[in-house]
Amino acid sequence: MAETPGVVDLRSDTVTKPTAGMRRAMAEADVGDDVYGEDPTINALEDEVAALFGHEAALFVPSGTMGNQVALRTLVAPGSELICDADAHVVTYEYGAAAAHGGISTRTWPTQRGLLDVDAVTSMVRTGRWHDVATRAIAVENTHNRGGGTVQPLDRLRLLRARATELGVSVHCDGARIWNAHIASGVPLAQYGGLFDTLSVCLSKGLGAPVGSLMVSTEARVAEARMMRKRLGGGMRQAGVLAAAGRYALEHHVRRLADDHEHARLLADAAGADPATVDTNIVLVDVDDAPAVADKAKGEGVLISPVGPRQLRLVTHLGVDRPAADRAAEVLARLVPAD
Ligand SMILES: *Cc1c(COP(=O)(O)O)cnc(C)c1O
Repeated sequence: MAETPGVVDLRSDTVTKPTAGMRRAMAEADVGDDVYGEDPTINALEDEVAALFGHEAALFVPSGTMGNQVALRTLVAPGSELICDADAHVVTYEYGAAAAHGGISTRTWPTQRGLLDVDAVTSMVRTGRWHDVATRAIAVENTHNRGGGTVQPLDRLRLLRARATELGVSVHCDGARIWNAHIASGVPLAQYGGLFDTLSVCLSKGLGAPVGSLMVSTEARVAEARMMRKRLGGGMRQAGVLAAAGRYALEHHVRRLADDHEHARLLADAAGADPATVDTNIVLVDVDDAPAVADKAKGEGVLISPVGPRQLRLVTHLGVDRPAADRAAEVLARLVPAD
């Protein structure tokens, strides 16, 4: 159960393992058949998460990808369009799911650090008159993964919401790391929730649960998503053992994300990354030869992901405490040459 001694794994916040307390909560979970709606722990988790975001309902799903995809399909009919940024998880890491499963056409806008540019986005919306494909939804990622953990500024999100409503277009939030955005910005989760028609939120990233995400929306959309989940083979039975991990994470692992953000700043400083680009728990570092630096770091017990030939990504999480962050910082300071 213990982490490999000495190894600091900064490849992703998905590498976390359930803590002893979380495992106890899982072992003790009250369960039932969730396809019959009879798992009390899943029902409690769904109610809690819906309430946190100020929405009517939520659906427990096995992954963030499924959360995004069932949400998008409640908003965008086959043959109509989703727009999102070119680095968005929904178009880069989901194997074309929106097209393959939903018949959804996608157009993207280019982005710096994943930041939302409301004018650029809303100018892309098409009405579907004559031969246009009708834009039905806009997806926004908060925090932005490939952008380096970027928190979307609240004023931009509000402006997007207002414009989208005027245009008659829905807005989805890929909130895999919305917890990090909430802790870094101080914006209440319910305030984020109020800006979106649907959200997908992950328990298995920084929150440290082994499995699970939730799709959050209205009763009607969640009922539709529940049917789609079953059709995709995502109907689960006594999955309350997993929901218990999620409930434990919500209670114990949200506020501590501030530590991950502090550790990320420490690593950024050691690796000479621009501190202004470090909003949360992800640090992007430009180097001459990313695979070579990652290899050397591995030799010293620090695992990092090259995300391009000249870029490294460091991600802090529950499994990296202050001494581990200090150790990684010492290694990075030596391996990443200052400009
Ligand atoms: C991890 C992640 C997801 C979901 O990933 P799964 O591996 O399917 O759980 C979705 N969006 C973003 C931004 C992510 O980082």
